[in-house]
Parts: sequence; structure tokens; C-alpha cells
Amino acid sequence: MQDRYGHRISYLRVSITDRCNERCTYCMPHELQEWLPREEVLTFEETLRLIRIAAELGVSKIRITGGEPLTRRGVLDLIRELPRIPGLHDIGLSTNGTLLVREVEPRVTMAQALQTAGVRSSPDATCTRKSSRGLMPPSPRDSTKSN
Ligand code: SF4
Repeated sequence: MQDRYGHRISYLRVSITDRCNERCTYCMPHELQEWLPREEVLTFEETLRLIRIAAELGVSKIRITGGEPLTRRGVLDLIRELPRIPGLHDIGLSTNGTLLVREVEPRVTMAQALQTAGVRSSPDATCTRKSSRGLMPPSPRDSTKSN
């Protein structure tokens, strides 16, 4: 796949939610935040279809993002399907890191489940930047409801 300037496109970032379990002032100020209506958010089936088409067109690297992608209900179901898509060789997930320690199965954390699925999780640069500037609030706020 190429853009109009002939640049080869092999990397795709896919945002699966606009929500986050934090409310950093810079990123999600209370007074400005309106969540997308549920019907405007792609289902996982639609997301996987989109990613499969992109892989057929030459995308080999993908990164799942948000908001905070780990707040999306059933995110592991999506994650576990990604390595099965032919052509994808590099699968990553950007996260603020706060939910990686959450137990998703008995004695299995989210971090371990991601690793087992072959998905690299890495700190979201935006969240890290905000945090280092002291704009991250000390505790989770009220946006943990999944979409
Ligand atoms: S900067 Fe990161 S942790 Fe903070 S609200 Fe935005 S997505 Fe969430």
C-alpha cells in the first residue's frame, strides 16, 4: 500500500476506545470530554476485518491504542486474534500501564496474557510525557466504564 507520494505504508495504529481509566488534565479535561456513542465505535469483528484488509495490502506492523486500550471490555479476545492474521509480524499495544497488573484469569495478569499472546506492550508516549510533567492525577477517575 502506498500513499499519493509513493511512500510505502506498512504500519497501522488502531484506536479501539476513546476512554481511559485516568483523566490527565491535558488529555481529557472533564469539562470538554464527551465519549463517542457506542454505535460509533467499531466492534471487534469490524476492527479485525479492517486489520485483515490492511495486512493484505501490505501492513506488517500494528499498534493497538486508545484512550487506554486495556479499558475496552474483552480486549484480550481481540489481542489473541491478531497473531493469527497472515502478514502481521510486529504487534504492539500502547498503554498507560496502570492495568497491566490486573488479574485477568486466576494467577494471570494482563501483562502476562499479552506476552503469551505475542503482543508487546509499551508505555504510551503521550501518557508518559504527561506524567513526567506532573499532569497525571494521582488516582483513577470516573471513566473506567467499558464501551
Ligand atoms: S494521557 Fe494517557 S493516561 Fe492520561 S488520560 Fe490520556 S490516555 Fe489516559
